[in-house]
Amino acid sequence: MSATLIDGKAVAARLRQALAARVASLGFTPGLRVVRVGEDPASGVYVRNKDKAAKEVGFDSATLHLPETTTEAELLALVARLNADAAVDGILVQLPLPRHIATDRVIAAVAPGKDVDGFHPLNAGRLAAGQPGLVPCTPKGVMHLLRDAGCSLPGARAVVLGRSAIVGRPMAQLLLAADCTVTIAHSRTRDLAAECRRAEILVAAVGRPEMVQGDWVAEGATVIDVGINRLADGRLVGDVAFAAASARAAAITPVPGGVGPMTIACLLENTLEAALARRG
Ligand code: NDP
Repeated sequence: MSATLIDGKAVAARLRQALAARVASLGFTPGLRVVRVGEDPASGVYVRNKDKAAKEVGFDSATLHLPETTTEAELLALVARLNADAAVDGILVQLPLPRHIATDRVIAAVAPGKDVDGFHPLNAGRLAAGQPGLVPCTPKGVMHLLRDAGCSLPGARAVVLGRSAIVGRPMAQLLLAADCTVTIAHSRTRDLAAECRRAEILVAAVGRPEMVQGDWVAEGATVIDVGINRLADGRLVGDVAFAAASARAAAITPVPGGVGPMTIACLLENTLEAALARRG
């Protein structure tokens, strides 16, 4: 079998187009503020891409770039100002933060209704309780891809590799909410290959280049590769050995061009949802 490619770029472009059309008919302009602290180069690229995408769909978007020496108190004061600003619907604090700032305290300071990253404990709790709330962008993007690919979710055996708060755990919750039977595997899982082989839907989010081998993939499975790993030779690869997995899977996401583009599209979707919820 040669797998069908799940084209995240195309799905993300369609989602962004649909969002732009909705924003144009709103009668108000949703506001997004992206906060960056320090000079982490990768964060610089991510923040620019988010700001550009937000402007393209018609949001009032701005980046607030603070120096590396910003104290936690100063950052918390900025977050409090943005929480209180009626023109701001979404607040995103780009991670990682400098080491002298407690990330958890900053995340918890963002108003849950403006938490477009979906990282606030209240939003994580809502997701775990099966209640509506803002959902982390990357796993939300994966759900869009699965639905767009026509993947049948109710009753499907789904395996999520990775249990981080921003990808693995919310991913498992979303699959569970879609009535999949979900297994979460991690670094202490006894036989990863065997767990993966049972998956009809396999989502890899471990951050280990090409760790998932072809023979870990069941014939006919749908494989979603969240991993983004830069090799020494400069190549970008996922967590899945793409060519070998493609020979067995029914459908698979490439890296790049799979999950990556969906993350920003879902940030835009979350901002629109936050704006609509805040304005009743
Ligand atoms: P984390 O490092 O926070 O979590 C990695 C998870 O993988 C942990 O749960 C860890 O287990 C597990 N893990 C690590 N090594 C192994 C192993 N050898 N065997 C089994 N499990 C293992 O990473 P993130 O969740 O933040 O990100 C995962 C990947 O997704 C990264 O490549 C990242 O770059 C990418 N990513 C991509 C995004 C996108 O937009 N496409 C967005 C966010 C992330 P344990 O908990 O036991 O330590």
